[in-house]
Formats: sequence, C-alpha cells, structure tokens
Amino acid sequence: MSSFKIRHDWTLEQIDLLFQSPFNDLIYQAHTIHRQAFQANAIQISSLINVKTGLCPEDCSYCPQSGHYNTGLKKEPLMTLEQVKIAAKRAKEKGAGRFCIAAAWRSPPKKEFMNILEMVSAIKALDLEACATLGMLNNEQVKQLFEAGLDYYNHNLDTSPEYYKTIISTRTYQERLETLARVREAGIKVCCGGIIGMGETQEDRAGLLQQLANLPEHPRSVTLNKLISIPGTPLANKPPVDSFEFIRVVAAARIMLPLSMIRLSAGRDSLSEEAQALCFFAGANSIHYGEKLLTTENISPEQDNILLKKLGLEAVLLDTELHACH
Ligand code: SF4
Repeated sequence: MSSFKIRHDWTLEQIDLLFQSPFNDLIYQAHTIHRQAFQANAIQISSLINVKTGLCPEDCSYCPQSGHYNTGLKKEPLMTLEQVKIAAKRAKEKGAGRFCIAAAWRSPPKKEFMNILEMVSAIKALDLEACATLGMLNNEQVKQLFEAGLDYYNHNLDTSPEYYKTIISTRTYQERLETLARVREAGIKVCCGGIIGMGETQEDRAGLLQQLANLPEHPRSVTLNKLISIPGTPLANKPPVDSFEFIRVVAAARIMLPLSMIRLSAGRDSLSEEAQALCFFAGANSIHYGEKLLTTENISPEQDNILLKKLGLEAVLLDTELHACH
C-alpha cells in the first residue's frame, strides 16, 4: 500500500520541517515513496540540443545566452531541419527516448515558429518523445505545438516568487505561471523546475517546491539544476551549493511530487558519483544525457554508462516504463 498522497496544499512550514529533518530520515522517507511510485533501479534518459543560441532579450542572471551579458558565447541562428534530424537520430542511437529542442527566445518569433513545428514532427517521426523549451507561448502556439505532436514543454519557475525578482526583471513569475497553464490546458505534459545555488535561502527553495507541488496538476517532469556560475553573468561569483543541500532538495521534491519524474539537469557534472548516487536514492530518476547541456558541459554518455553500471541502474527510454505496477 502506498504511503503517499498527491497533495496541492503544502505549507512553507511543512516543507521547512522536511528540510530540517536529519539527512538519513529525509532520504529514507523520499526513497520509500520513490519505491512505491517507480521502479527503484531505472533511470530515464533525455537528450537536449540548443537549436538557437544566444542573443536572448531576457535577463536571467544565470544565463550565458542572455543578450544582456557578455559571456563570450558564440551566437548561432536557428538550426536547419536537417541538422535537428541528424542530432535526434544520433541521440536515439545513443539511447535517448526523448529529444528536447531549446531556443533562446522570449517567445517564439512568428517567422521561425513554422520551422519549430517541422522539427517537432521530425522528432516524432523518429519515434522519439518530443520536448521543447522556447520561452513564453500564447494559446495559438500551444495549440499548434500540440497538433505537431509535442509531448512535453519545459518552462521553469527557477526559484521562489520572492527571490525571482532579483534573478529576472524582464519577465514576471505570473507570466511563467500563465504559460504553464496554457500548456497544461492544451494537454501537453509540463516539465518545470528550478535552479539551486543562486544565492537563495532555504525558504526560497521551499517556496519553489511549494509552487510546483501546489500547481493544479503536478508537472510530469521536475527539472532540478545546480547553478553553473558562468563568468560574465551576474551570478558568476556565487559559491557552489553544498551537495547535501542539493540532495535535500531532490528528496523533498520526491516526497512532495511523488509521481513526477525528477530530472537532474545542469550542474550534474559538479556532483561526485557518490552525490549523484544519493540523488538517485533520494528519488531522482531522470538525467540529461550528452556531452553538452545547452551551452555548458555535461558528463559524457560513456561516463554515465559506467556510473549506471556501478549502481546497477537500468537506462530506460520512456517515463511510462518507470512507474511501479500498483
Ligand atoms: S529566457 Fe532562457 S535563454 Fe533567455 S536568458 Fe532566460 S534562461 Fe537564457
């Protein structure tokens, strides 16, 4: 019998109690729920490419692709359909079940949106799940993406509503919530998460998880990133977040979002193998696979395969293969 309930009424005090519990108690509770909801020894693999790089008009303080900061990043226009097809095919051969395309936009420009729809259809034609992250969407764009076969849309909340204002000034939290609502209402699965280590307090971490858990539906995937401090961005000098603090966020996310996939994304390469293993124990069950994550380095697939083997974890292609039979 499951010991978890799907809840949308978490209070900050309740989340704080989770964060205050002894580490072993917290990860034991998270792992118990994880085992009830999912196969405990399986990890879903996603692959991600940037189809348009840099010159983004938004000012997200952590992002090397923002046009507001000089990070020395090479800007790239929208990739061609052929380039995306080749990359998706390669990702599939390397074991990905889902292919995500990302573009550095505030929202997709009209003249390039048709190209995006063709990319989504091409990914689906390869029998991969399609995911996209393109910024804010209006109702018509959401409808067209759904019709093209998009399975997932990624749009992150990044942090708590309170801390958000110190990180981004060009787009409001409310606008993010509205895009998430449009995506959810259109029937596209939501992928949403945040970044740990931007100088936020523990209360802000709790605030982010509270927002995610108290959405009308829990996101199907929750992406947890560990800040990569990029020279040239306002967060360049943030000290690295302690691994145990990061693992606590993973565990709290698993407890509060029992049926969501918890994905380790940016910054995973700064976690030791042991810390990654604890994240998997605490409920993380999805990783981004591939040498690059948008514009930053990632662990190589070969290294990932070695770690998965050491831990006896099986890489699976789709989320549906992961749910425990109950
Ligand atoms: S919207 Fe995306 S690409 Fe643009 S600055 Fe923010 S995180 Fe970077």
